[in-house]
Amino acid sequence: MVAAIEDQRIQLADLSFDPYISEEEISQRVAEMGQEINGWDLGPKPLLISVLNGSFIFAADLMRQLDFTAEIAFIQLNSYDGTRSKGEIVMEGAQLGVPVRNRDIIIIEDIVDSGLTMFYLVQELKKRLPASIRIVTLLHKPEMQEFPVTVDQIGFSIPSDFVVGYGLDYRGLGRNLKGLYKLAGQDLPA
Ligand code: 5GP
Repeated sequence: MVAAIEDQRIQLADLSFDPYISEEEISQRVAEMGQEINGWDLGPKPLLISVLNGSFIFAADLMRQLDFTAEIAFIQLNSYDGTRSKGEIVMEGAQLGVPVRNRDIIIIEDIVDSGLTMFYLVQELKKRLPASIRIVTLLHKPEMQEFPVTVDQIGFSIPSDFVVGYGLDYRGLGRNLKGLYKLAGQDLPA
């Protein structure tokens, strides 16, 4: 169950979450990110690749900030089980269904944690000979990153807390929350 009021602690399955980053803060930052991407030197018809499931809301909002013609494709990768990384990637929708060769690729990710998912995806995409690959993520946990990936654009750098909302889930719940929430029992940011 998701509580209707979004400025309070909420319960998802067996865990409680506290408000963390508001809907307003997210939409302001996503607009800024879009403006910045509009200034990037990209070839014709860049390809956005949204990593499912978590990035679908961010990708939809970000894409609407772009003022150039772009295509979008979706790929399903999963390394998380509950609140912990499984340490391996499961690729569920392996077929992108669109050509990658010689195109500028912008990967849209919800959160870069260990970096494993992005490391894996970049290796896979490189085999298809794109012109370039950039990574855009709404959230980044710099303290947790173990794999060598360069993230080109970050919405918010956050500590290692587990977060939900705005597309991110806990056991399939919480994706529809408009803001971001963090696991209760840890300090809120200053
Ligand atoms: P990585 O492969 O970088 O360790 O983890 C990336 C993936 O783990 C994300 O796409 C996301 O699915 C999941 N993940 C990492 N941290 C969190 C988190 O705090 N909350 C949620 N809901 N998922 C997370």
